[in-house]
This record gives sequence, C-alpha cells and structure tokens, in this order.
Amino acid sequence: MDNDRRQFLIGAASLALSSVPFSNAVLGQNKTGARLVLLGTKGGPSVGEFRKNASTLLLINGAPYVIDCGYGVSRQLIAAGAPLARLRYIFITHHHSDHNLEYGALLYNAWVTGSPLRIDSYGPTGLEAMTQAFFEYSKFDIETRIADEGRPDLRKLVAAHDFSGPGVVLRNDDVKVTARRVRHPPIAEAYAFRFDAKDRSVVISGDTAYAPELADFAKDADVLVHEVMYLPAVDTLLKRVPNAGRLREHLLASHTVPEDVGRIAAQAGVKTLVLSHFVPGDDNTITDEMWTAGVRKHFNGRIVVGRDLMEI
Ligand SMILES: [Zn+2]
Ligand SMILES: [Zn+2]
Repeated sequence: MDNDRRQFLIGAASLALSSVPFSNAVLGQNKTGARLVLLGTKGGPSVGEFRKNASTLLLINGAPYVIDCGYGVSRQLIAAGAPLARLRYIFITHHHSDHNLEYGALLYNAWVTGSPLRIDSYGPTGLEAMTQAFFEYSKFDIETRIADEGRPDLRKLVAAHDFSGPGVVLRNDDVKVTARRVRHPPIAEAYAFRFDAKDRSVVISGDTAYAPELADFAKDADVLVHEVMYLPAVDTLLKRVPNAGRLREHLLASHTVPEDVGRIAAQAGVKTLVLSHFVPGDDNTITDEMWTAGVRKHFNGRIVVGRDLMEI
C-alpha cells in the first residue's frame, strides 16, 4: 500500500471511529508484527493548530507501546484506533514537557476505560517521582472512584521504571527495547530508543543535536524516526522575540538541521527515514521539499515527511 492510500485509510478510520467498532479501525485489525504510527509530530511545548504535540505509537502484535506523551496523546491514540484500555507500555525520551505533559493523564485515561490493566512506564530519572506526584495530584478523584465506583486502585496498576544510563530497558517475547543517550543540552538524560521486534527494527531519536553516535545505534534499522529543525523558518520566527540570540543558541545546540539528519541516516544505513518532531511545528508554509532538500544531500534512501496519524 502506498503512503497516500495508507494516510487516507488512517484518516478515514479516525473520522469513522464514532460509528464503527474498534475492530474495523485500521489499528484494530488483527495484523501481526510491528506497526508504526506517528501520533503527534510537532516539536516544542506550545499547543498549535497544525500539528499535535509529540508522541509516537508502535503497535507490536496488538500491544500499544507509546513513545512520549505530548499534550493530546490520549486523543491521538483513540483517533489512530488504538483503544486506551489496551495501553501496556509507555516510554519517555526526556523530561521536556512536549514529551511528558500528558503522561499522568494518559495513565488516568487508560484506567477509567474500566479494563483491568497493568502499565509499565520507562523513562529517565524522575519518572517514578512524577508518577507518584500525579497520583498525589489526582488523589481525591482516584480515592473517590475506588470507594464510590468500586474501581481497582490505579496506583497499584502502574509500575514506573527510572533508568539513568544506556542499555536494555525492556525485553519480552515480542521486542527488545534499548536506550542510548543523545545530545540535548541542558538536559543530560535525553535518550533515543531502539525497538527490535521480530519483523522490524525502529529507532526513535528523541530530541537531539547532531549526534554521530546515533548512527551506530540506528545501524541497519528498518526505520529511523528523527527530529528535525528548519533553520530559515526558525530565524524568521526569532525576529519577533526579544531573547532571539539566546533562543537560537539553545535550538542549535539541542536540535538537528536537515543536512545532519541526512548524514545520520546515511551513516546508519537505514532503509526508511521518517522526519518528525518538526521545529518549527506550526508553520505550514514549509513544504515537504523544504524539509527534505537538505536531507537528500546526504541520504538517498526513502524519506517520509511525517504527519499526525500517518502509519509507516
Ligand atoms: Zn521536544
Ligand atoms: Zn526536548
């Protein structure tokens, strides 16, 4: 199936969700193997009209693995046809809010679907404390619903796992998940994830400046999902802000321009490169050609310019 057709199907499925059972939605079909869906493709914390905040879904043999929980992730999962009741694994690349703002609410939203669940979440140091803090934030509601509605205790159904260095994060019968540190100052604990499923390997860069070590990590992967920043548009935006110099410095030190994304993809030898986490994410005058021109200077494999709810 080509991409346009696939996109259309996902779009059609999300529009039709209110009237069809989940089993008819694209992701409800009993396909086996690893399926990759971009839920939100915007970089940065502001909520915009064009792209949704960052999150990505891997559906492996029917189990949803959610990578990053930008604002709106619950809605986007439903739009993709991945029922919240089936949520099983969450991975956070780093603790910028565009990657974790809806983490707690996603746990909650899965809980109130009423299905018994166990959710394992994995993220850099701080995730366990954030999980406890969210339970504290929602204490009144959680305890009310346990007593009043007979629900199980959400706090006992979630296991949060901090990690503080590279290595294997999770291994089960379907997939091995490995983390590798990337370059996203001032955040030291920022990671990329590699998912090696039986039929497919997918690497998600997280937020990073040009990091040649990421090419090693992504070596021969089927798909590399990499963040990208288009500097001319950033410069236009910066003309309007008083702290432009400082902000430009931060962006250059912590994100990757298309030419360097192309270098990483070429060095890694991946089959497909998917651009996501677009900076700026709200500028719909930047064409696919503008996003990819720099990439193509170095990488001649397949390039996909990501959009929300696209399956790759
Ligand atoms: Zn980000
Ligand atoms: Zn970030």
